[in-house]
Amino acid sequence: MARLDRAARSLFLAELLAGMRLTLKYMLKPKVTINYPYEKGPMSPRFRGEHALRRYPNGEERCIACKLCEAICPALAITIESEPRADGSRRTTRYDIDMTKCIYCGLCEEACPVDAIVEGPNFEFSTETREELMYNKDKLLENGDRWEPLLAKRLELDAPYR
Ligand code: SF4
Ligand code: SF4
Repeated sequence: MARLDRAARSLFLAELLAGMRLTLKYMLKPKVTINYPYEKGPMSPRFRGEHALRRYPNGEERCIACKLCEAICPALAITIESEPRADGSRRTTRYDIDMTKCIYCGLCEEACPVDAIVEGPNFEFSTETREELMYNKDKLLENGDRWEPLLAKRLELDAPYR
């Protein structure tokens, strides 16, 4: 019986017709795919991407070297060294993140009292070598300068839920 059924399906091209019916059904519907990387889907303000160190509008770096982010990081990915400035304020002399260790948990951002270290919207930072994923303070500040408008907007949108 099963053989007969298979033969009948082959003879009348049942699978082919079913496939064509499905194609016709979706032909006029809106597309669900996007043309990445030229088009991108919506992103939550809580998305946790590449890290950045932010500055205040006057250019002063926000980080006060309290080391809370270093202490809370479960992956031990952050290394900070600091020393006082001539004016008595404390700033980092070294701020490294080993991005190969980072698990993008967001705890560093949550621990920071001055919104200095944040995880931004950038997810396109793949590299060819591990060394390129050893971020230092210059790289993190550069990320902050580059993404600041989006970072500030993202924090503003998320503020009511913190
Ligand atoms: S996101 Fe998590 S794992 Fe990555 S640096 Fe921050 S605290 Fe560490
Ligand atoms: S980034 Fe924030 S939590 Fe980390 S040392 Fe600087 S001020 Fe403290």
